[in-house]
Amino acid sequence: MSRTKFIFVTGGVSSSLGKGVTVAALGCLLESRGYSVSLQKMDPYINIDPGTMSPYQHGEVYVTADGAETDLDLGYYERFTHSKLTRKNSVSTGQIYNTVIQRERKGDYLGRTVQVVPHITNEIRNRMYIVAREENPDFIIVEIGGTVGDIESIPFLEAIRQMRYEHGSSNVLFVHLTLVPTITAAGEAKTKPTQHSVKELLGLGIQPDILVCRVSQPMTKEMKNKLSLFCNVKEENVISASDISTSIYEIPKMYKEEKLDEVVLKTMGMELRTSDFEEWDTMVKGLLTTKQTVQVAVVGKYISLQDAYRSIYESLSHGGIAHQTKVEFVKIDPENLDKENVIDSLKNVHGILVPGGFGDRGIEGKILAIQHARTKGIPFFGICLGMQCAVVEYGRNVLGLKDANSTEIRPDTEHPVISLLEEQNDIEQMGGTMRLGSYPCKIKKDTLAYSEYKSESIHERHRHRFEFTNRYRKQYEENGMVIAGTSPDDNLVEIVEIREHDWFVGVQFHPEFQSKPTAPHPLFAGFIKATVKYSKKG
Ligand code: GLN
Repeated sequence: MSRTKFIFVTGGVSSSLGKGVTVAALGCLLESRGYSVSLQKMDPYINIDPGTMSPYQHGEVYVTADGAETDLDLGYYERFTHSKLTRKNSVSTGQIYNTVIQRERKGDYLGRTVQVVPHITNEIRNRMYIVAREENPDFIIVEIGGTVGDIESIPFLEAIRQMRYEHGSSNVLFVHLTLVPTITAAGEAKTKPTQHSVKELLGLGIQPDILVCRVSQPMTKEMKNKLSLFCNVKEENVISASDISTSIYEIPKMYKEEKLDEVVLKTMGMELRTSDFEEWDTMVKGLLTTKQTVQVAVVGKYISLQDAYRSIYESLSHGGIAHQTKVEFVKIDPENLDKENVIDSLKNVHGILVPGGFGDRGIEGKILAIQHARTKGIPFFGICLGMQCAVVEYGRNVLGLKDANSTEIRPDTEHPVISLLEEQNDIEQMGGTMRLGSYPCKIKKDTLAYSEYKSESIHERHRHRFEFTNRYRKQYEENGMVIAGTSPDDNLVEIVEIREHDWFVGVQFHPEFQSKPTAPHPLFAGFIKATVKYSKKG
């Protein structure tokens, strides 16, 4: 095996404990001690990827630079660390079975019965070794999706058990993230569910080295001692992860104070290099000492679900960090917007953002919100479908193209200002067939986009099928819409702006996948700056 060490993070008792953020925070802390880190997510579902799942089922689909549609946890990994993730960092049961079954058909296993152990477990391990081989980091932190006790995660747990057996405890570490609930009536935190969850792991041959316990209040020494005794984990390896009410970006610091990184390094026999945590610390201090607050409306059909626009909310708050501004979200369901209530619904907002999406639900509401932003001079940021809606709105209300629309919404529209690319016309499969991943874009000087990016050449990630229809370009440009960015061959419109507006930008790509708290994306930073300016107009 290569020099890479593996840290496996499992989850116990309950889902939604913040395993992804814990993994990301540990990555951040190990990097702060000068170690290189990669991260990998193992998802136990049968889908190949979350690309075809509803945001209600899965939250946002996070797109990597190489165009993989992945779990939103990869977004946390990239935002908290310097890692550059690809499709290899996101694995699902579906992918594993797909590979094994294709091999079986090819005849790779001739004569043998293909089984979960060893064929599926070997392929799971193989996916980890690929990352180790190609990226060669000091550590790979692997998050095992789901909760211990689920039927579907068993092959993954068996695979990591084998990893420990084969490579030993100095190369393979088990961290178990678990819940220590407080029973309100008793006023006490209870360790029993964690004891049972560890028992379950033990039954699968895995003895956790470190317990990270989600608790509402920091754990007492007695509680740590009790868990240590009953779960066979050293007392100093019982980490208390208490709720943080301010910002998820405080979590690495909380773990640092609990010495999570020290315990990990010590348990694996690694050198405790000095920690340089200053950049992160300064960022968090800035985040918590803001000078002003702005209200940004996010107009999207999944606003009831926190995770559906996760990267958008995060990026907006990064924009806030750039300008010492607290960003408050006003979540608006476009299905509830109509001509009568639009002004009232958007009364106190300083900026309007329409995120990406699919299908026709809520489209007319989004268009009304955009018209409001355009005509009232409110900063507007349209992303992917949000940009397409801005083009439709401008077509209808400025160019007078009656019923202009995207062919996704109305295939027979008289003015298809947004339509499919020729090569997308014959596509029959839904999964993985969009324009996906990072593409270059050239930006015209003398545009708002140029003044934000300060560059004529950028790369941004995409996830869409439909495009600005080129035969309408001239008409738009002659009537005040600026095509500020295109593909290098000029064929695809990537950024639109309105010259007569202080800050109105629509982008066909997803800038939210490249913003970090320590490096806010220029468009999000610019947008927030514009909202601050707008809020001060009075
Ligand atoms: N549905 C639109 C398209 O496929 C926009 C996609 C998106 O917003 N991600 O082009």
